[in-house]
Amino acid sequence: TNACLSQIRKTKKFNAFISVTDELAKTQAERSQQRCRENNQSELEGITVALKDNFCTRGVKTTCASKMLENFVPPYNATVYQRLLDKGAILVGKTNMDQFAMGSGTVDSIYGPAKNPWNFKEDDDFYIAGGSSGGSAVAVATGTCFGALGSDTGGSTRNPASYCGLVGLKPTYGLVSRYGLIPLVNSMDVPGILTRNIDDCVQILNVIAGHDHNDSTTCPKPHRKIVLPPAKQMSIKNLKVGIPKEYCCEGISNEILDTWNEVANLLEDSGADIKEVSLPHTEYSIVCYSILNQCEVQSNMARYDGIEFGYRANENSSVEKLFTQTRSEGFNEVVRNRILAGNYFLLTRNYEKYFSKAMKVRRTIVNDFYKVWEEVQILLTPTTLTTAPLYSEFIKKTNRDQCAYQDYCTQSANMAGIPAVTIPIKLSRVGMPISLQLMGRNLSEPMLLAVAKFIE
Ligand code: GLN
Repeated sequence: TNACLSQIRKTKKFNAFISVTDELAKTQAERSQQRCRENNQSELEGITVALKDNFCTRGVKTTCASKMLENFVPPYNATVYQRLLDKGAILVGKTNMDQFAMGSGTVDSIYGPAKNPWNFKEDDDFYIAGGSSGGSAVAVATGTCFGALGSDTGGSTRNPASYCGLVGLKPTYGLVSRYGLIPLVNSMDVPGILTRNIDDCVQILNVIAGHDHNDSTTCPKPHRKIVLPPAKQMSIKNLKVGIPKEYCCEGISNEILDTWNEVANLLEDSGADIKEVSLPHTEYSIVCYSILNQCEVQSNMARYDGIEFGYRANENSSVEKLFTQTRSEGFNEVVRNRILAGNYFLLTRNYEKYFSKAMKVRRTIVNDFYKVWEEVQILLTPTTLTTAPLYSEFIKKTNRDQCAYQDYCTQSANMAGIPAVTIPIKLSRVGMPISLQLMGRNLSEPMLLAVAKFIE
């Protein structure tokens, strides 16, 4: 714990953490030591973790990187945090993110951007960490903790994991409880795991997965612990791997395409059956997501009115003005825009045209996956279209408008609720991590992670 806390101090410039929980970590570590002395240790005893700052942590500020929740201290723990604590883990801090998890860069935080440690040059432009769980990725990549939790609504765990050269798992929707995770899009949000390798990821997943009576969308079946076979005994002979042709899309870099090909060939050489498949509605996923996202966002954000909790503007001439002022000052432009758009899509006269239609499109995207599982067991795709962009490039207006397209390969897994994992493969010519993604059917984590480990 001390080594991790000192590493956090040494790597401060990467801006991974919003709060560092030194005192709490030391108390937790002492209790952990006591349990060890009593020979009563659990499976994550003394293991350090960091949590994205949208997981509620009792007594520890949970800001969502926003002015709205800048001073919010939750009175309860998110289920995932409680489960980590129950198994002996130690919280070293809460990590940086895009405000309310809206973004793909960790550049929209009131605490400033998180910085990618790869290829970092002092006093220079830097590569973005990806987002919205960029702080969690940087925390793991800079060696400040064993693993970290992020959240994943459209790619927010996999995107930064991929940019920072880490393993990033988006579990099946309902496998891991969302209780205490401040919602973005309830029908797509899942807690995600960022670690240096697959074994570490499995260790954390086994602790946090499983039914939770506080989240009625969790699977009722108890979680069977995942045990991966030792690397030497692993075989992927006759495994049916699909290469969805729609993922070879506009804007994808040649280096990523080449890597995708190389790994497909490697799998084939190891006995897998590689097959081109089609997910024909993939191209509608991003527009469809934008509508559904904004509709759920406007509803979720309604609770921040300056009355019950969170920021309150200094305005008391009328209740309406208090609401307006609080929300104008407490949210950034991205959040405000999404609330406005969501309200527009949900107007009585627009409901059929947008929300209802987007729900139908979502169904066709889900059906694409059901069909493809009749042909193959697993899909191999890129995670992102490019390696991490430079900050100066990313924040240019035109690029920001297109940044939703960085989610092109990750987003439909959230629409369908299926599990997906990103694995670092190699470095690009300029020395940035290139990663690929595996997707499987619902609750296929044991197989998905075994194949990921084989590739790793
Ligand atoms: N980039 C997407 C968005 O801004 C996804 C974010 C996420 O997965 N939390 O909504």
